[in-house]
Amino acid sequence: MKGKGKTGRAPCDHSAYPVLSKFSQRQLLQLADFANNAKSAVPVTTIELEFPPLEPRGGAYKRAAGSLGGHHYFTAVQCRPTFGGLGQHTTDTKMNVEDFRKNGKEMIDYICDYVGGVGQRRVTPAVEPGYLRPLLPTTAPLKPESWSDIMADIEEKIMPGVTHWQHPRFHAYFPSGNSFPSILGDMLSDAIGCIGFSWAASPACTELETIVLDWLGQAIGLPKEFLAFSEGSKGGGVIQGSASECVLVCMLSARAQAIKKLKQQHPFVEEGVLLSKLMAYCSKEAHSCVEKAAMICFVKLRILEPDNNCSLRGATLRQAMEEDVAMGQIPFFVSTTLGTTSCCSFDNLSEIGPVCSDLDVWMHVDSAYAGNAFICEEFKPLMRGIEHASSFNTNPNKWLLTNFDCSTMWVRDRFKLTQALVVDPLYLQHNYSAQSIDYRHWGVPLSRRFRALKLWFVLRSYGIDGLQRYIRNHCKLAKRFEQLVLKDSRFEVANDVKMGLVCFRLKGEDKLTQELLAKINISGQLHMIPSLVNSRYIIRFCVTAEHATENDIDFAWSVVSDMAAEILSDPNNRQRRQSLLKRRLSFVRSVSRDVFQRSNSRSSLYDGCSPVIILDENDMEIKEDVFTFAPMKEELNEEIKSK
Ligand code: PLP
Repeated sequence: MKGKGKTGRAPCDHSAYPVLSKFSQRQLLQLADFANNAKSAVPVTTIELEFPPLEPRGGAYKRAAGSLGGHHYFTAVQCRPTFGGLGQHTTDTKMNVEDFRKNGKEMIDYICDYVGGVGQRRVTPAVEPGYLRPLLPTTAPLKPESWSDIMADIEEKIMPGVTHWQHPRFHAYFPSGNSFPSILGDMLSDAIGCIGFSWAASPACTELETIVLDWLGQAIGLPKEFLAFSEGSKGGGVIQGSASECVLVCMLSARAQAIKKLKQQHPFVEEGVLLSKLMAYCSKEAHSCVEKAAMICFVKLRILEPDNNCSLRGATLRQAMEEDVAMGQIPFFVSTTLGTTSCCSFDNLSEIGPVCSDLDVWMHVDSAYAGNAFICEEFKPLMRGIEHASSFNTNPNKWLLTNFDCSTMWVRDRFKLTQALVVDPLYLQHNYSAQSIDYRHWGVPLSRRFRALKLWFVLRSYGIDGLQRYIRNHCKLAKRFEQLVLKDSRFEVANDVKMGLVCFRLKGEDKLTQELLAKINISGQLHMIPSLVNSRYIIRFCVTAEHATENDIDFAWSVVSDMAAEILSDPNNRQRRQSLLKRRLSFVRSVSRDVFQRSNSRSSLYDGCSPVIILDENDMEIKEDVFTFAPMKEELNEEIKSK
């Protein structure tokens, strides 16, 4: 064999390299594997050996290799199958099917170890913004790198910056759906790698989506008009990337319907003028994605006050709409919420629905988190009034053990939905358009992943029964936490605990609760986020882990209780508060004044990216208008002045 140095390829000549020629093909691969893992490899040359494939499926074997027993034998061995054909790789790819088989198994092992040991890690990372940049090269590698090198960086460089959402001590936001069946389903979807924008582009991708959405819609108890396969139905379900997308798409469709109707009434008025009259509505408790959707749709949004239970009422909506109509505005869309982000409250659909019907307004129901719980009989009454809805969404990727992204959305009339979104270039048309669904018309993107697979795996692996047990366990544990809070006279519960979310606070001034939350988050023992309920600062405690137990709840309460004791026993200890403040300034979730200013919308505290700490180090002053919610504002100002 003639070695050609680093870049060259040598034709196969076993005799020229006596050591190598002694090895069988299988031994060579083992050698390559061994050397592949040897960090001390010193590149010498590159050789290529031709063999029949090890197994019938064939494939190219290329292994980075190095020293073995102190001798440098080779830098790479490439075992190229001696016959070609479909599925046999002859290109110089780094990871072939046999590598994938091996690395894939290693990855599953890594995942199992990660999942099994996640509880031993810190919930939140102890890193500062920009921590990763110095740890990684400034450019992508020109040459392929070894699998083992890449994996080594996962533990050393990536994991230290990961917030462990599946940690049993993670109680922030809402759950991030995750389960083994879902991971495996998604893996298969990645392997199939189809793009299901139309039925013809991959029939199973479209058909499975329609079927599992009907399964889930039935389990939730949606009106039969929402199900694609019920008799005479014009409705159906679709998987979107997020609840925000669902709200946007529904608002776009409602807008298109409203404009169409207005054009018929006022054929000579410009669309821009008609658009300027459109008014959408939501409660103050609605997610900020409604605000974003209104921005994108270029329509006005009126944000209404809910009642004391954070529930939007029909009378409030009716009054607002009547006022607006009197002013020449045209109500066209209401986004209601079942299970608000801040405190899991429920808008009153039975009252809101008839108001929408009277004015021919599209009523959307955003039930991103709570909607999943409607698979349990006892929660279905919370959906009362759903029969008035034009559309509904819930996120199995929040609370139904399905990995992101999987936001399920149903509409009563799919033709109304698609009218706003249809563009039909010739190359996407096919002969079955009339009989089939083309999901590209149901949302913004053209390309779509095979997301139904993971939901199908979840529904089949757990069964509705298993999923109900999962939901009920979370709700029961939230009740346990609520009881612990209620029994402690220092605390109060700030929401009506119906599902897996408890909002609580220390009695007294907000800053006590703010300080408590900062202290807990800094400790890394638990992770929770704040919110405002009835204008009071509260801590959100959400049960999130799939296998959450009473022990997890009791542990969380012991941390909360002990830290509260420290704060309350020594509220005026200036030194302690100063040092707490310093730590808070460098806490991972701090955001700059600029970022906070931009995100300082009405719901910025509870939109899932809420700033816990609000300051950057160069900030010279805390202003009332910007830092309305800033914890311990005066103290922060003093801290800055003394710098
Ligand atoms: N709507 C509600 C009620 C939510 O709670 C959330 C997030 O928590 C959203 C919408 C936004 O969800 P997504 O991230 O899927 O857009």
